[in-house]
Amino acid sequence: MLFSRDKKKCFAAGCGEQIPRQLLMCRPHWLMVPVAIRNEVIETLAAWQEGASPKAYIAAIKRAAEAVAREEATQTNDDSPDKTAEVAATGVRARTRRG
Ligand SMILES: [Zn+2]
Repeated sequence: MLFSRDKKKCFAAGCGEQIPRQLLMCRPHWLMVPVAIRNEVIETLAAWQEGASPKAYIAAIKRAAEAVAREEATQTNDDSPDKTAEVAATGVRARTRRG
């Protein structure tokens, strides 16, 4: 692994979690990103590493950060613990809902 010894901060706004450099976000934040955007981040990163422009990757990680911010705003506005548990349980599955 090229970067396995390096650490960086989670890309989500306001999160100071230290994560391995090859990851974009800490696990809880990454799981808040809709699967479609997660796949986009992974695919554009691979393309970048193969010599493509990083533009698509940068756009994808911006969308990922925005998705997390929206998800966190939703959770802050609704303090029901049941709702939070439901979000955690369904966060792994593909969601097509757009805020
Ligand atoms: Zn985080």
